[in-house]
Amino acid sequence: ERIVSPVSEEHDVDLDRTLRPQTFADFIGQEQLKQNLSVFVAAAKKRGEALDHILFSGPPGLGKTTLARILANEIGVGITITSGPVLEKKGDLAGNVTGLEEREIFFIDEIHRLNRVVEESLYPAIEDFCFDIVTGEGPAAKSIRLPLKPFTLVGATTRAGLLTAPMHARFGYVGRMQYYTPEDLQKIVLRSAKLLNIPCDPGAALELGRRSRGTPRIANRLLRRTRDVADVRGNGHITTDLVHKTCKMLGIDTGGLDEMDRAILSAIITHYKGGPVGIKNIAVVVGEESDTIEDVYEPYLIQAGFLKRTPKGREVTSKTYGYLGMSRKESSTG
Ligand code: ADP
Repeated sequence: ERIVSPVSEEHDVDLDRTLRPQTFADFIGQEQLKQNLSVFVAAAKKRGEALDHILFSGPPGLGKTTLARILANEIGVGITITSGPVLEKKGDLAGNVTGLEEREIFFIDEIHRLNRVVEESLYPAIEDFCFDIVTGEGPAAKSIRLPLKPFTLVGATTRAGLLTAPMHARFGYVGRMQYYTPEDLQKIVLRSAKLLNIPCDPGAALELGRRSRGTPRIANRLLRRTRDVADVRGNGHITTDLVHKTCKMLGIDTGGLDEMDRAILSAIITHYKGGPVGIKNIAVVVGEESDTIEDVYEPYLIQAGFLKRTPKGREVTSKTYGYLGMSRKESSTG
């Protein structure tokens, strides 16, 4: 298990169910976004109309799915959840959209991974609320337009840049998710600890917040791992000292970076003189998919000031040398 992987793993499912905020009031952080969404919800409710289509973009584990569920909950409608790679054929999409109730939320995770055929049949569904199907074959083929109930598409993507322009243009609002501050994560950890009946010092919660790469999913996972350590080595009560011990065991450093983060940064220094270097080269050196580096690792490293994206490729910063205790001399041609 890679603890800092922000991507949901199977054993997260139960935890997610227990900890997932149900209302805007429960949802910590992302204040501006939350405010905008509550206005849209109130307006749609007042008019009795479906909410405009919404896109959430941002790294995994920041709460995009949670917000989609909250939208449904606050409006008082159901939600159908699927994802780009799951919708392989036009028929898969038809099965979903024809079953939607009026004003229901239709959530497509990883919407940038829809294939072209499915994406193009989604357009009339979200624009005119109808679905075109073809029956029969050859000269007997007939096109039929099925009416749909007005619904709201909520798309989520880790890479808004990979969305096609026509798809992007069909969303009435784009909510960009930001990494959470350690203080917001502290609140999230304390809320989770309470729900899970784990005694946790506020200082320990803040330390967990600092070590979680700005990501609630990681904070919740790290809380659970620290509870294991607290149960075995202590009296079950989570203290700052136990957080330090747990992070040390898991290879998470004081800045919340894990082994892969550090591998990426030192690879750029030792193999490419600190950069600029292309993502594919980095991927080969550290043995990770370049997509994963771009979706999961790079955004946080950039936001934390360890990495820069330039037209020529990725470069480390002077902060990186200091943090890793390396000097520019260690940058060799390999
Ligand atoms: P994403 O869809 O962006 O990958 P999720 O919505 O699945 O992320 O969030 C992952 C987990 O993190 C959720 O189960 C939830 O428990 C927690 N979480 C996310 N955002 C928040 C928040 N703002 N407040 C409290 N918990 C949150």
